[in-house]
Formats: sequence, structure tokens, C-alpha cells
Amino acid sequence: MKELSFDVVVLGAGGAGVGAALAARAEGATVAIVERLDRSGGILNQCIHDGFGLHRYKEALTGPEFAARLNTEAKLGSDPGLTLLTGRFVRDIDPEARRLILVSESGLEAVTCKALVYAAGARERPFGSLLIPGDRVSGIFTAGVAQRLVNLDNRLPGTRALILGSGDIGLIMARRLTLEGIEVRAVLERLPYPGGLERNLAQCLHDFDIPLLLSTTVAEVRGKGRLEEVVTVQVDENHNPIKGTERSFAVDTLVLSVGLVPSTTPVMDLVTVDPRSRGVVVDAIMGTNRDWVFAAGNCTVIYDLVDYVTDEGIVAGRSAARFARGEPRPERLPIVRGRDVGVMNPSLWCPGQDLTLFLRPARPFAKARWVVRQGEGSSAAIIRETKAEILTPGEMERLKIPAAKLDPSKPLTVEVVPDA
Ligand SMILES: Cc1cc2nc3c(=O)[nH]c(=O)nc-3n(C[C@H](O)[C@H](O)[C@H](O)COP(=O)(O)OP(=O)(O)OC[C@H]3O[C@@H](n4cnc5c(N)ncnc54)[C@H](O)[C@@H]3O)c2cc1C
Repeated sequence: MKELSFDVVVLGAGGAGVGAALAARAEGATVAIVERLDRSGGILNQCIHDGFGLHRYKEALTGPEFAARLNTEAKLGSDPGLTLLTGRFVRDIDPEARRLILVSESGLEAVTCKALVYAAGARERPFGSLLIPGDRVSGIFTAGVAQRLVNLDNRLPGTRALILGSGDIGLIMARRLTLEGIEVRAVLERLPYPGGLERNLAQCLHDFDIPLLLSTTVAEVRGKGRLEEVVTVQVDENHNPIKGTERSFAVDTLVLSVGLVPSTTPVMDLVTVDPRSRGVVVDAIMGTNRDWVFAAGNCTVIYDLVDYVTDEGIVAGRSAARFARGEPRPERLPIVRGRDVGVMNPSLWCPGQDLTLFLRPARPFAKARWVVRQGEGSSAAIIRETKAEILTPGEMERLKIPAAKLDPSKPLTVEVVPDA
């Protein structure tokens, strides 16, 4: 078996992985990125709409343009200290030897490292997980599969479609399918509020007169071989169907955009995974509970923007390179989840290190603030807060707290404070 060895190995060549490689190289480490596909970029390659890079490059780029920019920044392909191993699937990780077993068309290979950055992205929730009754028909696609068919394979999934799920991917696919001549009858959302960014609601639905049906889900799918009819139903606040609100749509395509789940399979037995978010638990320097393993991107929590994913990859790559050259890992302390915190990443902070928090509220607020406090009870002091504004789970907030503002002797709490 072919054996290779590097200071830092990065698993996954999406925005997080290439960001990590770039930073690890800047620290002087030898780096390899292992990627199962035939090129770098990850999910960016099939996202041909614009809106990527507004923070990092101050431009609205398409996904492939963002990936190309990042490759250039990382000198991918021209830096002899950075090796991209494509067409290799990481099947196993041996923690004792810090050794990854790769499967490729040419057989098995092994790569050892001093530190690993895990950046395997996310997977889509499949149809089977929704337990929707009806006929077992073709014509039901996850949004990512439909996007790949249209954008990379130049094939149309059908002629008339419904989309289930109003997160950003569902909204973007509603517009994409419309532009390709498919009649998108509606986007359905089980919750009483939309899941995606405000800008995507305006640009993908309102601009194309596509109805958004809130508090509505799929009750049944019908057809012989191919999907012919979808029955929808309205739901109450507990997501129970409301009798008498059923509606029938004659469509041949149902696109599911019902959430991404962090990919953790190769590291399930290696690191702590949050049972709530199902992402790898990380601290402020993107370290996991295993000292030589770091993680970044959608495998830790599902981000809105690739700019943030890349920034977190950079933190992980830098930390991995420093660990690989012998620097000890910093102390880790839990961050207390206060009222109405839905998503919070990282969930641990490190005294002496800057902290960047990524947050989503548990529910929408007409006017509320993010508040970060240190201390206990009435003596707790606010060390960071945002302006009062609309907060929704669809919009991720980024809060940066410099190390100098953090007191290692006091507990740190994050919460949502509603304003009257
Ligand atoms: C439809 C859609 C629209 C979006 N729109 C925007 C937008 O407008 N603006 C914006 O900023 N962001 C947008 N995003 C979000 C952004 O693109 C993603 O959050 C980001 O690209 C994810 O990067 P990642 O590196 O975490 O994961 P990925 O890009 O998924 O990369 C993970 C990589 O790991 C590889 N991998 C996984 N497991 C293995 C294994 N075992 N062995 C080898 N390789 C493995 C995968 O093949 C993949 O290449 C959108 C995302 C989607 C899906």
C-alpha cells in the first residue's frame, strides 16, 4: 500500500478545507487535502448563482468563481508544499497512528499526519426520513441532486414542480427551475415563517411570483411510476395536519429542501458530536476534544455563507499547523446557552484566544438583541451586544469578541434579549 506523510492533512476540499490548507501552509506546514471528487470546491461547483464572496472578496461571485479565487489564494496546483489528492474517499481513520486509509480507483493508500482538519461538509436529509405516505414514485429529488442535474449535467428533472422547504437552497432552486422553464407551483414551508435569507425570498420568490405557502407540508404523494399528484395540508403550531385544508397539485416533480445534516461518519468514534446539531463540537480555535483533530465548515454547523466557512477553515488550518509543530492546545471552557439560542458555534471558548460566535435564534423575533455576558446572576456584565432588530433562524449572526475582553475566571453566557 502506498504511504504518504504530511504535517497537516485536510479531509475535504470545499471552502472550509481549502481555507484550512491555505492557513496551514502560511504557518509553514506541509499539507495534503484529500477529496473524494475529481476537483476542489465542494458544493460551490454546482452553485452557479451569484452571492458568494461578498465578505471575503467584496464582490458577488458565483460558487465556481469563489472556488477559483480561493484556489488561487491557496496556490493550489502551484505550491509544492500543498498536495491535492482527488478521487480519494477517506474510509477509515486510525487514531493511534494518526493515519487515514483512502480508497481510490487504483486501490488503497495511507496518509499519516501530525494534525487533521476535518472539513467534510454536510449531506441532505433524504425523502425516507420524512415518512410521507403514498406511492413509491420517481420524480422526487433532494434540492442538491436537482441542482446538480440542472447545473452540471444539463438535464431537467421535470416540467411542473413543488418545492418543500423554504431554506436558502429551496428558494434558490425555485428560481433556478423557473429560469429553466419548469413551472414552480409553490414553495411549501411547515413552519409559520420562511427559513431562508430575506434577500433570497425577494430575489427568488417575489421577483418570479412564486407563492410561498407557510404552515403547509406534503400529506401524500401519488402516481404510477412517475409522480403525478402531491397532496398538501396545513399544519398547526405543533405541526399536526389540520383536517379539511388538503389541496391537490398536479406536478411531476417534488424537490425536497428539508435541511442539511453535518457529515460526521468518518469521525463518529473519534470526536464528540453534538446530539442536537449533529455537528462536530469545536472550541474557539476549531479544536475538537481529540487534541490532533480540528474541524471547520458545515460538518460543525450549517452556515449561510461560504465566506464564514472559509474564515473558520482558516482558523482550523492555522491551529492544526501550530499543533503539528508542537504548540500545546489552549484550555477550553463551555459557553452557557442562554434563552432562545438555537444554533451556537463554537460551544467552547479558550481563554487568551479571540472568539467568533455564529448564532441563530431558536425562533423569530420582531425586535431583539444578541447579548453576551460574563459573570453570574446580577453581577454579570455585558461584554458584547448587537443592535435591536428582527432576528430569525434563517439569518446567522456573526459576533467577534477579542481575547482581551474575555475574563478566564468568569462564566460566559449567550442569550437573546427581546425588546418591547
Ligand atoms: C444550494 C446552495 C446555495 C448556497 N448559496 C450560497 C450563497 O449564495 N452564498 C454563500 O456564501 N453561500 C451559499 N451556500 C453555502 C456555502 O456554499 C456552503 O456553506 C459552503 O460552500 C460549504 O463548504 P464546506 O467546505 O463546509 O463543505 P462542502 O463544500 O460540502 O465540502 C466538503 C467536501 O468534503 C468532501 N468529502 C466529504 N466526505 C469525504 C470523504 N469521506 N472522503 C473524501 N472527501 C470527502 C466532499 O466531496 C466535499 O468536496 C449555498 C449552499 C448551497 C448548498
